[in-house]
Amino acid sequence: MIMGARVPGTGWTVFVAGVSALPTEVPDGAVFLRQVHGSRVLNSPEPFSEGDGMVFPADGGRFPGVLTADCLPVFALWPGRVGCAHAGWRGLAGGVVESLLKDEYGLPDAVVLGPCICPGCYRVGEEVSRLARGKGHPRGRFDLKLEAVSRMAPETRVFNLDYCTLCDPGFHSYRRNAATLRNRVWLAPDRMRHDILQLEPITADPHEKPGRMHA
Ligand SMILES: [Zn+2]
Repeated sequence: MIMGARVPGTGWTVFVAGVSALPTEVPDGAVFLRQVHGSRVLNSPEPFSEGDGMVFPADGGRFPGVLTADCLPVFALWPGRVGCAHAGWRGLAGGVVESLLKDEYGLPDAVVLGPCICPGCYRVGEEVSRLARGKGHPRGRFDLKLEAVSRMAPETRVFNLDYCTLCDPGFHSYRRNAATLRNRVWLAPDRMRHDILQLEPITADPHEKPGRMHA
C-alpha cells in the first residue's frame, strides 16, 4: 500500500512506500541513488548513481526518489523542475539542502519534508550535539527537520509530512531493527492510487520547531 500527499498548487504528490508496500507498487520512473550521506546533487542521473540528491526536468517521465530508514527526505518543486535530497545529520552538516536549493534555480514553489525520525526518538552523542548547539534542538537530541529548515531561505514555502519512522510502525526504521529495508519516498504527478496523507504547512523560521516531541 502506497501513501501519498498532494503538494498544494503544484499537481505533484509525495508518495511513500513503507512497510506494507509491494516493490511492484513503485513506478519505473522513480529514480533512487546509491546514497552515501554526502552533499552531491546530480542533474538527471541514471538510477543508482552515487549521490544524495537529484534534479530532473518536470516533464521527463523520471521522478526523484529517496531511500530512508530514519533520515529525512527533502523534495523541491520549481517551475519545470523537481528535485530531492537525502538528509541525515551528516548530509545536513555537509550542505546537502543548500546544494539542492542552490540560487541558480531560484526560490522553489514548494519544499516538502517527508517522514523521518522525530527529535523525541533521536538521541545523539557529543559529535552531533556540537552541531546542534544554539539552534533550538532539544537537549541531547537532534531535529532533522529543524536543521533542514534552518538552511533554507526564510521565505521558502515548506510543507511537512509529520510522521516518525521510529514511532510509527508503518515505516522502516534503522534504529528500530537495523534492517536493510528502506522506505521509498518519491515525488510524481498525482495519477496513482494511494491512501491520503495530509501535509501541514510549516514555517521556515528556525526558531519555530517543526517536529513533534514525544515523551
Ligand atoms: Zn519518534
